[in-house]
Amino acid sequence: MSRVAWTVLPVDDPAARTARAARSGPAGRTGPPAAGGHDPLLHWTRLGDSVVLFAEGPDPVHRAAGPGAAVRDAGGLNLVIQVGRAFQRAHPEVSVLLDRGRHLVVDAAHLVVDAAGTHAGEGLDWVVRPLPRDEVVVDRPTPSARGADPALGELLALLSQPSYEETLHVVTAPPTRHSLDPGFVIAAETAAAVLQALGYVVVREPIIVGAGHSENVVADLAGTAEAPRGLVVVSAHLDSVNHADGPDAPAPGADDNASGAAGLLELARALVTRRWPHDLRLILFGGEEQGLFGSKAHVAALDEADRGRVRAVLNMDMIARLNTPAPGVLLEGAEVSRTLVDELAAAAATWTSLAVSTSLHPYASDHVPFIDAGIPAVLTIEGNDTANDDVHTARDTLATLYPPLALEILRMNLAVLATYLEADGGADGAVPARTAPTPPPTAISPAHPPETTSPS
Ligand SMILES: [Zn+2]
Repeated sequence: MSRVAWTVLPVDDPAARTARAARSGPAGRTGPPAAGGHDPLLHWTRLGDSVVLFAEGPDPVHRAAGPGAAVRDAGGLNLVIQVGRAFQRAHPEVSVLLDRGRHLVVDAAHLVVDAAGTHAGEGLDWVVRPLPRDEVVVDRPTPSARGADPALGELLALLSQPSYEETLHVVTAPPTRHSLDPGFVIAAETAAAVLQALGYVVVREPIIVGAGHSENVVADLAGTAEAPRGLVVVSAHLDSVNHADGPDAPAPGADDNASGAAGLLELARALVTRRWPHDLRLILFGGEEQGLFGSKAHVAALDEADRGRVRAVLNMDMIARLNTPAPGVLLEGAEVSRTLVDELAAAAATWTSLAVSTSLHPYASDHVPFIDAGIPAVLTIEGNDTANDDVHTARDTLATLYPPLALEILRMNLAVLATYLEADGGADGAVPARTAPTPPPTAISPAHPPETTSPS
């Protein structure tokens, strides 16, 4: 089996630019290599600020990268997507060639069974695939800020860090929120009560998790437009897990995913202060850590009409840990959610100081079942140049969180939710029209004062 020669360059390195300009899009769909002496044997893959150049022998890489570049070789190049450091814990023997936290480039051809990414020993929290050729796996777009609508600014100002932090304490009060533990039921009951008190219609949806039973908490707020209305979904998983020590062990799950669940409750508090044309649904999923049981069941139970009217799904999973020097967010979707990713990136530029990364390689959270059903869904997750090594352990505690990051991500999400809840465009899930200004939503302060309720 032939070896692969590779090197890593900064994305703005001239050699990396030349290689990328010569071939864009998945290999095989690019046609003949561009004129100008580009080496047809040379390939590239971008992960954020880095570009991997690779070829079957060292010569094309040396020619492209110049004599000074460190060209090494490997048995094969593979992309890992992992939660925390799940892959590195399961396979400490595998050498990591490029570490970008959630995304790794590794030499692990022996783990890949076929090109679809089926592999031996797959964990729930990692996947190994052949490294995509001539493709951007993680992008660092620089979206332009838009005009800041004052009415939207007032809505975003309702988000409160003290309120968010208080909710974090409540969600993490049970020693574990394992989907099959009474601690999960306590957390679900508490969240359901909070949402009901805010004015949502709450249903606790039973689900099967392996050999046991758990639930999703589903909270609806009907839109004011005439039917058919669109549906905008916000989700986060409520359950936690301690993989190493078993279902009874402490699993505070502060970042994964009290941060997202408390974020959903904070968004719930702000969103209910307005009347929206479209329907809003907030979902706290159970059974995520055992394999997305809650979201799979919820999507499977949606009828065709409901699937067709979902305009956007915003999923939050781990939004409060600072793994990058500056606050950052990864927007992870798929081709079906490209517009939603772009809207979120623009909102981040308009309303936050977040550095945005994007990826269209969805993996291992509750956005995936929606995407698999053709519904535009995006995971918003803390930027992760460095993986959070404490997820799924007793060390995932409140003390490790950086709430200002979560508040930035919530601001971005709320701005986009408001746009999708307001805009014309019917129930077809179309991009909200951005040319015509929409009338400001009606405030209804007396019934729902903004300072309402932190759970107690
Ligand atoms: Zn999670």
